[in-house]
Amino acid sequence: MGSDEFQVIERWFKTLTTATGGVSLGPGDDCALVEPPPGELIAVTTDTLIEGVHFPADTPAHDVGHKALAVNLSDIAAMGARPKWVTLALTLPAADESWLADFTRGFATLADRYGVALVGGDLTRGPLTVTVQALGGVARENALSRSGALAGERICVTGTLGDAAAGLAIAKDLSEPYPDDVLWLRRRLSCPEPRVEAGLLLGGEASAAIDVSDGLAQDLGHILGSSNVGATLDVAHLPLSSALRSVAGDLAREYALSGGDDYELCFTVGQRRLSAILEKLSAAGTGATVIGLVESSPGLRARYLDGTVQTLPEQGFRHF
Ligand SMILES: [Mg+2]
Repeated sequence: MGSDEFQVIERWFKTLTTATGGVSLGPGDDCALVEPPPGELIAVTTDTLIEGVHFPADTPAHDVGHKALAVNLSDIAAMGARPKWVTLALTLPAADESWLADFTRGFATLADRYGVALVGGDLTRGPLTVTVQALGGVARENALSRSGALAGERICVTGTLGDAAAGLAIAKDLSEPYPDDVLWLRRRLSCPEPRVEAGLLLGGEASAAIDVSDGLAQDLGHILGSSNVGATLDVAHLPLSSALRSVAGDLAREYALSGGDDYELCFTVGQRRLSAILEKLSAAGTGATVIGLVESSPGLRARYLDGTVQTLPEQGFRHF
């Protein structure tokens, strides 16, 4: 980009966040220097959003900024870690001031909510693409992974499932203005709230965790595969929003089973700790629901409302 365009963008980037916790040297040098608290492991993740692939071309800039950060904070939350630092690589077709103002507002509002500091970035010209890398800190004994689930444990999920996928699919057949329920589902798609507080509460308590980005069946399948166990889900217990129920009807449970982009946390927990952790999550404002049981027999099964049990194929969002 030309130097004046860089000035425009740098001006907006400077507004991104004021958090400075653990930053020894901020942006502007060849690297930033950050300092984790003694004894903490660093959780590192990165995710790219491409216009037309990961979000529709008409997505408001605010939502692009929010979601690019949210999906990364969601991965940090799934490890039981506290998000601390992020870098941003932004590819833009042009330096559009009003777009940048909205984008940075969406990004900065979410970053400030969790005290996350932007410590570096990169700018290039090209089709709209946003890559965020996030780093978080977690005490070794609190770190969560996909591999600790044990037969006999309960499977839980925060919030509600299927909203984002339904918001995407159902709006395709409608014209604007959308009804309120559809608008709410669309917000779940374009402005997901990462379950940062829930992840911190689950650290050291849950035996395994993952964030639901590709769909419950597929993401829970990752826990089961990593942990060498299987599971049966109770379809009747899948948490459904009232908006999803009213808009999707009989298809609501299918969206909840296989729809992606909800960014809830799916986790496993032993019976002894179950009620205490559910109470803590509820008190923190992110309720969770028991949806199934970890079993020693491999594979993922669903018990439907009529009592029949079927093995689920791996499903969800295919990247290629
Ligand atoms: Mg993930």
